[in-house]
Amino acid sequence: MAKVKLEVSELQPYLEIPAVTPGVMAHSRPFVAKPEHQEPLGFPGVLVDNWQEKAIDKMGDLLGRYRSLRVYLDACVKCGSCTDKCHYYIGTGDPKNMPVARQDLLRKVYRRYFTLAGKYFPKLVGAEDLTQEVLDDWYSYFHQCSQCRRCSVFCPYGIDTAEISMAAREIMDHIGMGQKYCNEIIAKVYKIGNNLGLPGPALRDTLEGLEEDVFDDTGVKVRYPIDQVGADILLVTPSADFFAEPHVDGLVGYGKVFHEAGVSWTLSTIASEAANFGMFIGSYENMRRISLRIREAAIALKVKRIVFGECGHAWRVAYSFLNTLAGPWDFLDPSYPIPQHICEFTNDLIQNGKLNLDKSQNDDMVLTFHDSCNVARASRMGPTPGGQFDIPRAVIKAVCNHFHDMDEETIRERTFCCGGGGGLLTDDLMELRVKGAFPRMTALNNVIQEKGVTHMAAICAICKSQFTKVLPYYGMEMEQIVSVHQLVSNAIILTPGEDDDLDEDDDESEDDED
Ligand code: SF4
Ligand code: SF4
Repeated sequence: MAKVKLEVSELQPYLEIPAVTPGVMAHSRPFVAKPEHQEPLGFPGVLVDNWQEKAIDKMGDLLGRYRSLRVYLDACVKCGSCTDKCHYYIGTGDPKNMPVARQDLLRKVYRRYFTLAGKYFPKLVGAEDLTQEVLDDWYSYFHQCSQCRRCSVFCPYGIDTAEISMAAREIMDHIGMGQKYCNEIIAKVYKIGNNLGLPGPALRDTLEGLEEDVFDDTGVKVRYPIDQVGADILLVTPSADFFAEPHVDGLVGYGKVFHEAGVSWTLSTIASEAANFGMFIGSYENMRRISLRIREAAIALKVKRIVFGECGHAWRVAYSFLNTLAGPWDFLDPSYPIPQHICEFTNDLIQNGKLNLDKSQNDDMVLTFHDSCNVARASRMGPTPGGQFDIPRAVIKAVCNHFHDMDEETIRERTFCCGGGGGLLTDDLMELRVKGAFPRMTALNNVIQEKGVTHMAAICAICKSQFTKVLPYYGMEMEQIVSVHQLVSNAIILTPGEDDDLDEDDDESEDDED
C-alpha cells in the first residue's frame, strides 16, 4: 500500500506534552467487522436490535467473572498521574486518549447501571446512560488503546486500562459491533491455521526455500522442518516469520541456533501461528480456542518441549495464561520451562559457551533495543526478575560489538508502545499508528543523534511490522528495524553437519552423470 499522506510532528530532543484538543481523533475508528468475520467467533453478525440491554448484560457478566474489572472501575481517585503517560495522548492531544478519560467512557456506564449512587443520582457521580453517542465513543477510543499497560505503571492503584479496553471490546463484540481486522484474522486462524492464511503447502515451500538459501550462504545444511513427529521441540512462531522482512531473518536465526544446539525441532501446520488475537478482543473463549491448537500440535507431534519465537503478545499469552488456557502440560519434559522463549534458549547456549560467535559480522550496525510492551509489562523470561529486559540485551551484546540503550524513561518497564499493538496494526488506523509512534521515534532519534545508532532490534512481530511502516514517516529507513535472531544469525559460525560434504559430493556426481 502507498504511504498515506499525514501531517507528522517534527522530532525534538524532548517530549512535549501536547495541548488538549478535544475530539481531534474522534474520527479514527477501524472498519467494523462483517457477519463473515463475526459469526465464526460466536458473535452476532450485525448490531443487534436490543443492543443496549445486551451490552449491559454482558458488562454484568464480565463484572461477575473478573473481580479486577470492578476494582479498576471503582478505585480511580482522579489523581492525574496517568494523564500524560499514553503514547496516543502524547501523539494526538485528544483528551479521550488520556488513560483516565478512556477508562471513564466505560466507568460512567458502569456507575449508571451497577452502582446505587449512579442509579439514583447519576449527575452527581458522573454516571451516564448507554446511548448511541457513548457507543460511538467506545468504538473510536477503545480502538485507540494498544493495551500496552504503560499507564498502569504510573497509577498508584495499579489500574490497568488495558483490561478495561479488553472488556469494552468484548462487550461490543457481543452486540455485533466487532472490529474487522482482529476478527477476520481470528477466523483465518480457525480456518487455515495462521493469521496470514498461509496453507501447509505454502509453508513447506517457504521452509524448503530457506534451507536452500542458508545452504547457498553458508555451505551448511540447516534444517527448517515442519510436522516432524517425534522432534524434541515444537517451535511456535508468528506467521510473519515465514515471509515478512525482517521477521524471516529471525526464523533463519532460530534454525541456526537449533542446529548448533544439536536438538531436533519442528514447526507445525496446525499451530503455525504464535499470535493470539483473542487477547486483543478480550475474549477468553477465543483465546482458549486459539491456544488449544498448540496443545493439539504438541500431542500429535509427540514433542517434549515448546519454544516460542519472537512475538510480544504471544509470549504474554504463553507465559501468563497457557497453562490455564490449554494445560495441563504434564506430557512435556518438566526439566525445561513450559513454555520457553527463543531468547532464553539462545541465551542459555551463549552462557554455556555452546555457540561459536563472530560479533564483527554485525559491525556495520550500531544497535539499540525496543522493549515490546507485552514482554516488558505482562510477562517475564528466564529464572530471575527482569529477565525479560536482560536476556534479549544479553543476546544482542553477545552477537554485536556496538549497543546503546535509549533514554531510561522509555525502556524496560517504562517502554513506549510501537503504536501498532493491541489489534491496531491495520491500515485503516494508519494516522493513529503514526502519531502513536511519536514518543518511541523521539527516543530513537535521540540515540541516533547522540550515539550514532543505526538500527533498532525487537522481539515482537507486531513491533517489527509497525516500525517498517512508520519509520519512513519520521525520516528513517524501514530497514532500520531488525530481529534479534537476525543478529544472532549474522554472527553465528555454523558447524557443518555430517552429511554436508557428502551431499555436495552427491550433487557433483549427479552433475557428472548429466
Ligand atoms: S494501556 Fe497503553 S494505550 Fe491504553 S491507555 Fe494505557 S498507555 Fe494508553
Ligand atoms: S493514575 Fe490511576 S488513580 Fe490516578 S487518574 Fe489515572 S487511573 Fe485514576
